[in-house]
Amino acid sequence: MDELLEEILKECTVFSKEGKVASYIPELAKANPADFGIAILSSDGRFSRAGDCGKVFTIQSIVKPILLLQALMDNGVEYVRAHVGVEATGKPFDAINYTEQTLLSDHINPMVNMGAIAMCTMIGGASYEERFDRLLELTRRLAGNDKIGLDEKVYQSEKRTGNKNRALAYLLKTYGMIEDDVEQVLDCYFRACSIQVDCVDLAHIGFALASHGRPAQDGERIFPSEYASYVNAILMTCGMYDGSGDFAVKVGVPAKSGVGGGIMAVVPTRMGIGIFSPALDEKGNSVAGIRALEALSRKLYLSIF
Ligand code: GLU
Repeated sequence: MDELLEEILKECTVFSKEGKVASYIPELAKANPADFGIAILSSDGRFSRAGDCGKVFTIQSIVKPILLLQALMDNGVEYVRAHVGVEATGKPFDAINYTEQTLLSDHINPMVNMGAIAMCTMIGGASYEERFDRLLELTRRLAGNDKIGLDEKVYQSEKRTGNKNRALAYLLKTYGMIEDDVEQVLDCYFRACSIQVDCVDLAHIGFALASHGRPAQDGERIFPSEYASYVNAILMTCGMYDGSGDFAVKVGVPAKSGVGGGIMAVVPTRMGIGIFSPALDEKGNSVAGIRALEALSRKLYLSIF
């Protein structure tokens, strides 16, 4: 498997030239577009890796499925479903599209920014610091890595410049979809996006979703199986931004990308995959990362369809 991964990296690295690193969060513009890593954790216990697997980057939107899991663990499916919808929006992750129509929970989903910001208000905790700490703790457990922390520079950079997210959060508040103080909710969201991971962490998190709650390390279930079904279904239809349909056709597994250049893929019952290559297409997906997943899916028959 290690050889196959090396071969795929070699074959796909050229595609990073077709993308650009994210720059709308100023600190992310410092990423090196040549970085490329891939890690896979399989259900037979095998771990394979190639390239820049130890390089850390910010999780960005890949935290959204973890936010969703935490909200489900704290409130159950019915409550979460009643407050945030599950339909693909077909629009960019930070789209506003304000049309003077009332904003309803069914207009958003947990994988777009509005849904994820709403999800922050559903995490249990006496303060927003405590909510974030619980989210970080869940991330560490899923990844089996208690050293995971925050990239302070990216957090400050995003907090300083994240005005579109402020607009989205105020719209949620206007329509009664969140009640708490907007700046506190956003602070939790910005911190969540700035959690620092590597490909190996993402492979572990994907594995926990693929194995319906059981992590690789100790086998003790972290969350109920039904939550994995809920999260994986939404990843399948909404995880790759407004490129999710194309990704379903070409790769065919639940996955989530982030503007930091990471992709976490879940191959139900079989494996978790973590990829890092920060040059993005215009939708925000890692260009070489998607190509690598296409090649892997073809070679290992990963598509669930
Ligand atoms: N922190 C980013 C934002 O809210 C996350 C976007 C992403 O990775 O899709 O703009």
